[in-house]
Amino acid sequence: MTLDLRDVTGVPGHSAAFDYSPDLSELLSESVLAVVGDARLRGSVRNDAGILTMRAELDARLLCVCARCLKQFELDASQTFEVTLSESEAAEDDPEYYRVESAAIDPGAVIVSELILRSEQRLLCREDCRGLCERCGADLNEGDCGCAPEGDVRFAVLSQLLDG
Ligand SMILES: [Zn+2]
Ligand SMILES: [Zn+2]
Repeated sequence: MTLDLRDVTGVPGHSAAFDYSPDLSELLSESVLAVVGDARLRGSVRNDAGILTMRAELDARLLCVCARCLKQFELDASQTFEVTLSESEAAEDDPEYYRVESAAIDPGAVIVSELILRSEQRLLCREDCRGLCERCGADLNEGDCGCAPEGDVRFAVLSQLLDG
């Protein structure tokens, strides 16, 4: 979707609204497998005393892969955004701004680049996911696998000394 900003750019107080299902396919990667159902993006771009601000609310669920246990899980990616748009070339490298090159924007593309900026931490099925056992590959969320805990490295060194 392209949002025409010609009526907004030059006129403080003016705004343009949007409410549609954005294309989030640019988010897909090894850890984000699919968008679940239809995403919805609504909001507006408003000219506040010459500064263009896009405020938007995203409703979306993503099918992700946990970085620790490799299980698939649905992530509620719903969140709100407030992005300052700028036509200045200096905005290109400034994470505070989203650079607009014409009198139109694609709100979905703005949101995708914001989501990528925000998702630098690894995706986990839950904050305290215990991951997989490094030795046998068992899912430690489902209980201990019986392998010796990592603390036993010291013991291994000790038994090496005793063997020698
Ligand atoms: Zn996990
Ligand atoms: Zn194990």
